[in-house]
Amino acid sequence: MKLFDLPGYTEILESIQDGFVVVDKDLRYLYVNKKTEEIVGIPAKDLIGKKLAEAFPDHNLNLISLINIVKKAWFEKKVATLEIYFKPLHRWYFLTIYPFDDKYSVIFRDITEEKQTKEMLQNSQEQLSIIFKNVSDGIVIQDHTGKIIYANEAAAYMSGFASVKHMVEAPISTLSERFDIFDQQKRPVPWQNAPGRQVLDGKRDSVEAVLCFINKKTKEEIWADMKSAKISSVMEKEPCVITIFHNITVLKRLEQQKDNFISLVSHELKTPLTSLKAYVQILEKQYKKSHVTNTGNIIAKVSSNTEKLVELIHSLLDVSRIQEGKLKLKKRLFSLTSLLQEVAEDIRPITDHPISMVNKKNIFIYADRERIAQVLVNLITNAIKYSESTKRIVISSVQRKNDVVISVKDFGSGISQKDQQEIFKRFYQSAEHTTFPGLGLGLYISSEIIKEHGGTIWVKSKEGKGSTFFFTLPLGKKGSKEVSHTLD
Ligand code: ADP
Repeated sequence: MKLFDLPGYTEILESIQDGFVVVDKDLRYLYVNKKTEEIVGIPAKDLIGKKLAEAFPDHNLNLISLINIVKKAWFEKKVATLEIYFKPLHRWYFLTIYPFDDKYSVIFRDITEEKQTKEMLQNSQEQLSIIFKNVSDGIVIQDHTGKIIYANEAAAYMSGFASVKHMVEAPISTLSERFDIFDQQKRPVPWQNAPGRQVLDGKRDSVEAVLCFINKKTKEEIWADMKSAKISSVMEKEPCVITIFHNITVLKRLEQQKDNFISLVSHELKTPLTSLKAYVQILEKQYKKSHVTNTGNIIAKVSSNTEKLVELIHSLLDVSRIQEGKLKLKKRLFSLTSLLQEVAEDIRPITDHPISMVNKKNIFIYADRERIAQVLVNLITNAIKYSESTKRIVISSVQRKNDVVISVKDFGSGISQKDQQEIFKRFYQSAEHTTFPGLGLGLYISSEIIKEHGGTIWVKSKEGKGSTFFFTLPLGKKGSKEVSHTLD
C-alpha cells in the first residue's frame, strides 16, 4: 500500500529496520511496514482497517491510557515515547509516537533483551548490596580520588563510625587521623602503603595484607586480613578500589596468648637447660679420664639431645623476639666469602653431601655476622635434610650494583608450587616432610632475619629436581641501614 505519493517515501519506510505503523485516533491500522509484518507474524492486509484491540484480542494494554498518551501528544504537537510489554508477542517494545494530521505514526523497537539485561543487572546489584550489607567483613569502595563512595555496616562499625552515612561523608583523612597502622611484626606502616592506597596509586592491581590498626586515642587494636583490588563501576568513569577487611582480632589475641606462652616456657627452660648442658660437658670430660664401658655412648646421646633441645629453645626464643619486634641486629663489616667458607667447613664433617662453592671473589657486607651464619646453616642443613646423601650442594654469591645475591642449591626432593608460597610462614612444614625432624621455624626465622637486613629471600624449585634458595643483602654500610618496610 502506498502511504504518501511522495516519490520513494514508501520505499524508505519499508527499509526501516524497526516496526513502523500509522494508526488513526481510534488506534486503527492505516499503514503497516514489512518489518512490522515480520515482528507480529501477521500480513499487513489482515491488519489494515482493524483496530489494535480487534487485531490482538488477547492484548494486555490499557487502551484508555494509551489513547490518552496519543491524544496528549497530538494536542501538544509533541513526540511521545513509552515502553510497553506486549503480551501477545511476549516482548517489550519502545514506542515513539509522532502525531500528524489526525493520525499517528508509531515506530517501535524491540527492547526485550535490553530490559532483561537491565533487570538481571538490577537483581544482581540488589543481591550484591544485600550480601554486602549482611556480611560480617567490612567492605569499602573508594573512587579514583580515594573518596569513600560505599561502605557497609561492618566497615563503619570496625572504623568506629556511628553509621555508614557518617563514614561515607567523612573526609578521607579521618581514618589516618584516627588510626596508626602496623604490620604483623608491629612495624609501623605508612598510610600511603596501605593496600587500598597502593591500588589507587596504580602500583598494583590487587594487594593483600594482614594489618593492625591501633586507635590513637583509646589504643584499642583491630587486626584485619585485608584485600584491595581495582574494579570498574557503572557509576564511575575511572576505576574504583574495593577493600575487604576480615576482622581477625580475636584470632590474633589467641595467637598472642599462644606466643606469650611459648615465650614464657622457652625463657623458663633456657636456664635449666644451659646448666644441664654444662653438667653434661663436665661429665663427658670426667668420663674421658675414667674407663667405664658403655657410659661414653650414653653421655654422647645425652649431650646431642641436650644440644637439640637448646637449638629448639633458641628457635622458639627467636620467634618470640620476631613477634615482639625485638630481633636486634649487631651489624659490622665482614667478609661474606670467609663466612660462607667457614659455615661450609663446619658442616662438611657431619654430612656425606659434597658441598661446593662458586664465585670465591671477596665480598664485604655490613650485617649481623652471627645471624647471617644462622640463615646459611639453616639453608644448608635443609638442603642436606631434603636430598639424598650423594647429592651435591652448591653455595654461590654474586655481587651486583647495590647488593649481593647468595644462593644455596640442592638436587633433592624439591618443593611443590603450593608449598613454595607457604614455607616462609612460621610452623609450616610441607605435608610430605612432616616425618622429618623440625618445627617449620627455620625458614620463617631466616626470612625475618633477611628482611630485617633490608634484603629479600625466595626459592626456585621443581619437584623431584631440587631447590635453590636465594637471598639478597645490601652492600656496604649505607645500603644495609636503609631498611624500609613494605607490604608483601
Ligand atoms: P623444618 O625444616 O624445620 O621443617 P623450615 O622452616 O626450615 O622447617 O622448612 C619448612 C619446610 O620447607 C620444610 O618442612 C620442608 O617441607 C620445606 N623445605 C625447606 N627447605 C627445603 C629444601 N631444601 N628442599 C625441599 N624442601 C624444603
